[in-house]
Amino acid sequence: MTIKEKDKKYILPTYARADVEFVRGENATLFDVNGKKYIDFTSGIGVVSVGHANKRVADALCEQVHAITHISNLYYIAPQAEAAQKVVEVSGYDMACFFANSGAEANEGAIKIARKHGERDGEIKRYKIITLNHSFHGRTITTVKATGQESMHNYFGPFPDGFVYADGIDEIEGMLDDHTAAVMIELIQGEGGVEPQDKEKVQKLAKLLKEKEIPLIVDEVQTGAYRVGEFTASQAYEIEPEIITLAKGVGGGVPVGIVMTTLKEVLSAGDHGSTFGGNYLSSRAVCEVVDILRELKESGDLEITSLMFNKALEEFAKKYPDTFTKKVGFGMMCGLRVKDADTLTNIINAAREHGVMVLKAGRNTLRFLPPLTITKEEIDEGFKALNSAMATL
Ligand SMILES: *Cc1c(COP(=O)(O)O)cnc(C)c1O
Repeated sequence: MTIKEKDKKYILPTYARADVEFVRGENATLFDVNGKKYIDFTSGIGVVSVGHANKRVADALCEQVHAITHISNLYYIAPQAEAAQKVVEVSGYDMACFFANSGAEANEGAIKIARKHGERDGEIKRYKIITLNHSFHGRTITTVKATGQESMHNYFGPFPDGFVYADGIDEIEGMLDDHTAAVMIELIQGEGGVEPQDKEKVQKLAKLLKEKEIPLIVDEVQTGAYRVGEFTASQAYEIEPEIITLAKGVGGGVPVGIVMTTLKEVLSAGDHGSTFGGNYLSSRAVCEVVDILRELKESGDLEITSLMFNKALEEFAKKYPDTFTKKVGFGMMCGLRVKDADTLTNIINAAREHGVMVLKAGRNTLRFLPPLTITKEEIDEGFKALNSAMATL
């Protein structure tokens, strides 16, 4: 059986897969089963932040696997405490962490903290979570309901109650009431189309919520781990949320989700937990990834790469004014608005054929989430391939 036949026979058809099978990677370069080379402008949807097959991560994980990988949260786990200290320190916030295994799970944890925080005298009074339309918070029953996209609420009900959606940051103030447990937002909507929120509006909202003692949850599953230049987008927006969730890039390819919060006293033993969360393997990955990215930031190289990538993207977009209507994004989370959805699909397919991987976001955004370690050579080669792809459309 070929891999395609096996996939068809044994895997549930939840993904529309592109016809390619990668076998190896090296920083922002990928090789498929036929030996064909590709430049990766996706980093596996913002996950492989330190590049494919990063040697430091590989060595750390090998060492860890040979020692111990899992013993459960019934016991102390040194790399978990270490990873928590590292992420708290680079964030600059006075927070503590809970470790989960994915973005959706981190958001579940955040919602549980907000709901318990909203409990008064043993009775849940503040239960409402306000999220934004066009948001994306995950695929579990709760986080799919938290996601402000009607099309994702078609099946799977009944859903947990208490999620309401605002059209924009401006609308949130008018929706706050005595039952509001939290507001949950992405500072730059990822899946929604690489849509940054207005900094002043966000700062005003954060201040208002502080006055009303309503926690602000920032879903940084995609924006976190230096994707937008600072460890969190919250730092870039100069706000102090009560809860931040991380996943994707913070594990560099090892599944991990993290809830960070200033509300350190809300959950007690038994309120929440995870079998795998924060085990030796994933925590060790977080330690190494955060070290690598912090060094990249402090050396100034992250800023240089970000400027280089954005300049190359602008120059590329300028050549096709009839196709690309606008450049969007923040740091190394960027996109180009494409005139229509069909053209976008054609670009992504042609790009792959010409050896460069790019993503879709929302209905009509070409999305770029390159590894933060991408080199100048890889950037140049990627855009060269994209130009060749454009020539065939
Ligand atoms: C990807 C993503 C999630 C879901 O993460 P999973 O690891 O797939 O559960 C949640 N929120 C945001 C903003 C994301 O980009």
